[in-house]
Amino acid sequence: MGKKVGIDLGTTFSAVAVMDEKTGKPVIVPNTEGGKITPSVIRFTESGEIIVGQEAKEAFEAGEDGCVSAFKRNMGEEEVYCSFYGKDYTAEDLSAIMLKHLKQEAQEVLGEEIEEAVITVPAYFYHKERKATLNAAKMAGLKVRQLINEPTSAAMNYGMNHWRENSRILVYDLGGGTFDVTVVQLKSGYQIDSLQTLGDHKLGGKDWDARIAGLIEENIEEETGISASENIELHRMIQQISEGVKKQLSKANNAPYNCYIQDYGRYSGSVSLEEFDLLTRELREKTGIICNTILENLGVTWNDITDILLVGGSTRMRQISPYLKEISGHMPLSQVNPDEAVALGAAIQVNLPKPKYTVLSMSNPADEPGQEREYNGRKNLSNTKNQFSAGEIGQEEKLRNVLSIRNSDVVAHAMGIIAVNQEGTEYINKTIIPANQQIPVKCAKSFHFFTSRDGDNELEVYVLQGDRKPLESEIIGKYVISGIVHHENENPTTVRIQYSYDLNGMIQVQARQGNNGADLPIRSEAVPEDMSKYGKPVERVKQEPIHVAMAVDVSGSMSGKPMQDALDAMCNFVDKISSYGGGVDIAAIAVSNKCKIVQSLTPNLSLCKMSILSIESCMTGIGNSAHPFKEIKNILQHQSGKRLALVLADGKWYHQAKAVKAARECHSVGIDIVGIGFGDADEQFLRDISSGDIESMLVKQSELSSSFGKIAQEIGANSTGGQQNDIANDQSSATWLAIGE
Ligand code: AMP
Repeated sequence: MGKKVGIDLGTTFSAVAVMDEKTGKPVIVPNTEGGKITPSVIRFTESGEIIVGQEAKEAFEAGEDGCVSAFKRNMGEEEVYCSFYGKDYTAEDLSAIMLKHLKQEAQEVLGEEIEEAVITVPAYFYHKERKATLNAAKMAGLKVRQLINEPTSAAMNYGMNHWRENSRILVYDLGGGTFDVTVVQLKSGYQIDSLQTLGDHKLGGKDWDARIAGLIEENIEEETGISASENIELHRMIQQISEGVKKQLSKANNAPYNCYIQDYGRYSGSVSLEEFDLLTRELREKTGIICNTILENLGVTWNDITDILLVGGSTRMRQISPYLKEISGHMPLSQVNPDEAVALGAAIQVNLPKPKYTVLSMSNPADEPGQEREYNGRKNLSNTKNQFSAGEIGQEEKLRNVLSIRNSDVVAHAMGIIAVNQEGTEYINKTIIPANQQIPVKCAKSFHFFTSRDGDNELEVYVLQGDRKPLESEIIGKYVISGIVHHENENPTTVRIQYSYDLNGMIQVQARQGNNGADLPIRSEAVPEDMSKYGKPVERVKQEPIHVAMAVDVSGSMSGKPMQDALDAMCNFVDKISSYGGGVDIAAIAVSNKCKIVQSLTPNLSLCKMSILSIESCMTGIGNSAHPFKEIKNILQHQSGKRLALVLADGKWYHQAKAVKAARECHSVGIDIVGIGFGDADEQFLRDISSGDIESMLVKQSELSSSFGKIAQEIGANSTGGQQNDIANDQSSATWLAIGE
């Protein structure tokens, strides 16, 4: 059995920690040089050597070639981050090198193999950054027990040292490019619950750097007349200087700097702490607003917060702690080393049992997000009775205490799906797992999906992270669900889509048809580059129902092949229209000297086809003295939705003028008529019975079937507004359902 370690893979520094079995506390594993933290800097040399850590950092600062740092900021991006000596590296590759180095160093110092690790990641990390972290660990030969959010990890370490039941800790995590606040609660039974995480992922140390850069640029322009906005070289140099100036101001009240400007020479200046404070007040206040928002969301005040824990390199700036004291009344904890706290928490986590899945059942309105509740899976954990009491405890007990801590992290971002709204007018981001649920968690939601008789019936699922509009959210994957069965009498059908959010923050998608169906096959596909269609409103996706009456001339001239072809054409129409997405019913009428309704309006399209085929044996005379328009009007006029009659004529009818008059009465009550003729049909008559903007058709007998099919397709295509049948409809009546555990 090897060692279990916690690893903080940081932007600027990384650290490894392990549980000290004697003290029952996590401790940092120093690197082979004795350093508690290792700079996350790598240097590639021309001879193929890879140097990691302090030496690489020194080379980097000396401006030597082959050095790279801060790659964590680009985690999850597939593009090459840097290229050295003919080799390309992504942020994931570089993280793999870093992790491998940390593992080897720890093994050397501990004198044991590393068996398993928990790696920390920022709470804001999306699916792809988490996946890249797991990939990097795999490349480094590390077995990862789980990923854990950095603020939660820091809070676990804090909780271990300052356990106070029901205390609430606000973890203020200001890194290089992001800001996150997490509130955790220490509960009875040594349970740590993350209550909520909120952040601004575009706010971080780099914004403070930018304010300094702006000031330096202004000063230089004032004194030299040289504008950095027109001098890329100078602009870049100032950016590099700014971070150093900022760091100096964490120790001194004044930070001098020098730069060399082409055609001018050396320029020296300085930035005072006071200037820096003034310049960056608004940035501090932005973090304060987020802190206040999270408290508001939780329905608590600063008085309900026991302690503020600082995490992230940027919390070293000297204004942060006094500012937090000013807005909260609490001086943030200073004894916690932000560089070590995260790794120490991970060392605790790696020794804990894995929590079970929470299955979210949203059928109860009281269970809406934001409500306090205990979940089935969670209850068992929080009920774990703890036999230890407060007060002085021995080392062994301490260790057992630590091992009985239960940490439950939360989903930082809501997980949704691109769906069509209930009105059928817009693409929306429909949440399946709300933000701030405790993980691991599963949740399913039912959607309407229109199937087609002929089509493959595949449903595209775009998984969204975040709760903004579809194209403003992170699209983390495309899954195609296949094998959805078309049922004539159940269209749209119900497809239940379940998301499972695992301990590492990775999503799995499952789908079932109906309530009791088996899992449907699902495959992952690349997210298309052009997703722009999901930004536009949907045109009438939710179709109105359509009612169709089909009348066929069954006079003597139709007997034999013409009749068969006509009936086949009608059946083809029924087949094609079945994929129409808004409910269809069809009636059939035979007409010659008399008119007979062979099928009243029915949504049962199989029955309808049988009735159509039976027409062959129910001739209503051999002449053409009747017309079907009275029956058509009776059948359709009181139906809501679209009303359409297809009238198939062969040869001239005896009382065409009367028929045209009756057809016009149908038009006047909103019934659309398409006159279709073949053989000796009268073209003018067909035009007259057809509605104003509808073209009549005089076709060859052999083209009857395809003509009917075309009409059906046109109706279907016009009303679905194109390719939208592959997206689920938000199901208004659907309850939240949980599948599985
Ligand atoms: P992290 O992402 O937590 O490693 O934090 C990186 C950020 O912390 C960068 O913006 C650094 O410039 C900033 N940082 C690191 N050390 C200091 C310091 N001593 N004073 C101010 N900012 C610092």
